[in-house]
Amino acid sequence: MRSALALAAVLLVGCSDEPPFDASLLPIDERIEHLLGQMTLGEKVEQMHGLQLGAIADLFHTADNARLGIPGFRMVDGPRGVRAGSATCFPVGMARGATWDVALEERVGEAIGLETAARGGNVLLAPAINLLRHPGWGRAQETYGEDSHHIGAMGVAFIRGAQRHVIASAKHFALNSIEDTRFTVDVKVDERTLREVYLPHFERAVKDAGVGSVMSAYNLVNGAYCAENAHLLGDILKGEWGFDGFVESDWFFGTRSTVASALAGLDVEMPSALFYGPKLVAAVEGGEVPEAQIDDSVRRVLRKKLQHGLFAPEAVDEAVVESAEHTALAREVADEAMVLLTNEGGALPLPEGTTVALVGALADTPNLGDDGSSAVYPSYAVTPQAGLEARGVALEVIAADTLEAGDAARVAAAGAAVVVVGLTAADEGENLGIRGGDRDTLALSEAHQALIAEVAAHNDRTIVVVQGGSAITVEGWVEEVEAVLMAWYPGMEGGHALAAILFGDVNPSGKLPLSIPIDDGQLVAFDHVSSSVTYGFLHGYRHLDAEELVPRFAFGHGLSYTTFSYGALELSESVAAAGDVVTARVEVTNEGSRAGDEVVQVYVGAVESARLRAPRDLRGFARVTLAPGETKAVSIELLVRDLAYYDTEQGAWLVEPGAYTVWVGSSSARLESSAELRLE
Ligand code: BGC
Repeated sequence: MRSALALAAVLLVGCSDEPPFDASLLPIDERIEHLLGQMTLGEKVEQMHGLQLGAIADLFHTADNARLGIPGFRMVDGPRGVRAGSATCFPVGMARGATWDVALEERVGEAIGLETAARGGNVLLAPAINLLRHPGWGRAQETYGEDSHHIGAMGVAFIRGAQRHVIASAKHFALNSIEDTRFTVDVKVDERTLREVYLPHFERAVKDAGVGSVMSAYNLVNGAYCAENAHLLGDILKGEWGFDGFVESDWFFGTRSTVASALAGLDVEMPSALFYGPKLVAAVEGGEVPEAQIDDSVRRVLRKKLQHGLFAPEAVDEAVVESAEHTALAREVADEAMVLLTNEGGALPLPEGTTVALVGALADTPNLGDDGSSAVYPSYAVTPQAGLEARGVALEVIAADTLEAGDAARVAAAGAAVVVVGLTAADEGENLGIRGGDRDTLALSEAHQALIAEVAAHNDRTIVVVQGGSAITVEGWVEEVEAVLMAWYPGMEGGHALAAILFGDVNPSGKLPLSIPIDDGQLVAFDHVSSSVTYGFLHGYRHLDAEELVPRFAFGHGLSYTTFSYGALELSESVAAAGDVVTARVEVTNEGSRAGDEVVQVYVGAVESARLRAPRDLRGFARVTLAPGETKAVSIELLVRDLAYYDTEQGAWLVEPGAYTVWVGSSSARLESSAELRLE
């Protein structure tokens, strides 16, 4: 009634001497109806597909409607920066996952969103929030890690930041975590695993962050392509979660049909109209797709265009792209992302004035990550060598993966040897059919392992810097070296961060967002060949814990140059019920003489459960900065509803009554203190 009155009022004003009717003054829902009411079927369908296969000046367009003044979408990747011209290249998603710093990730999202707007984009094809079932996945680097709670928190932060400027797109919905078969694989999953493991982070993107769009994945789930999967798109996303935005397909081969896709709720076919366009108009005219279904999609598209200001876009000065502020942010993220995996006898930080033999072909190679859709082209990238040189470190550079005559003596003469090894876009990445794709092994190449062994034989302060976007195993060489630092693909400022960490200007604080096993056999199998795979309930640290397998580096692990001690864990309640919030409180002390950050992690286990449950699940975390000797009380909220399981028979989330153990820890394997919680 209120809306009808408002519309009448505006129309009446239009009939008088007052200024003419201005639809832009209407509330959004009424503006949508006002526009929709004027659109022909052809115009509606035109809102539902991309314009052409390739990008136009880096942007994927959907049509503008000049007659009605409806702006088109300008979509652009992606997860580590905007892929348009040169732009700030941030550390990859997995590296940012290792920061466990949601406030920082929100700033990254905001910076990428702003640069997207500056480049003329209005839909950012990020974040990638697929759960890493196995670290061999070629696109592991684009997502945040193996744990749904952690991915959800990081993804929500990114979206909140990005959506201050553009529409974000949570991708790829859903269960997209194999690259080589991504266009054809049917991922089989039972309903409980789907709900508890693979979807909670998408649900948070929708409900907690209000993400404007969701990209359907290439693969099939339980027999239906994601772009025509009525259970995923209709029942769950738009039904149960109440998603009011639009779903766009993934790109080439992302849409497979006209009628099934439209009926399932695929709102926008990208990047062009292979199945929508005239075929969709014909399907409506032939009665196969009700026009109401089209109207629903168009309402979603218009709603997001209106809510996100596409009709009156913010004018953004292109000077924000690669601004000093954004490159400084890229540096800050790299500082927090690198994970110190081992540090024997305090080999790091290197004393001031140490001469360094810097070894490896990657020592002076810009190595920013995949060169598929997530590629970003910054105007510079600081390599390890450039970073160390900029810090004034005396270097002996051996920029090769083998030592030549005389090199061994140079390595031996240096105060420390830093060997840079790992992966590049040639080893892992998006499946473009030519290179990259999934990995068959998590081990380093034999050449890199041999290089490490040779260097370590000549220098007893050998530091290995590992680059890559996922887990890399260290067996066979880790015992030979004094320290291992996981640097990831650290973005355009990575070399500066590396130098600062090696020399202790920055105290390392990254924590693994994935488990690094002793060998591939400790993890669930990774089948990137078959056309059908089954995803079970446990993977990553949950699988390792359930099987009582001890990985080389546990999920959440990461060393610091200082040490932290934990007090006793206290819970605000010892008995709680569904809907309650329980606060876990613990005092953490910096026992050393350097300031440092600790990531306090809270895990919960349903220890009395009659069902298959993981021994413990991450359910909260917080990053805390502590001065030398300082103690801080850290409070982390636990939502009892996050402890529920999905009951397949009732189709509902249920909280199992009984005893739960809450642990606080500095990793999933290093549990410092625990307390009991009883749920009723
Ligand atoms: C990728 C998406 C990307 C799209 C557009 C697809 O192949 O899977 O992540 O957003 O291309 O570049």
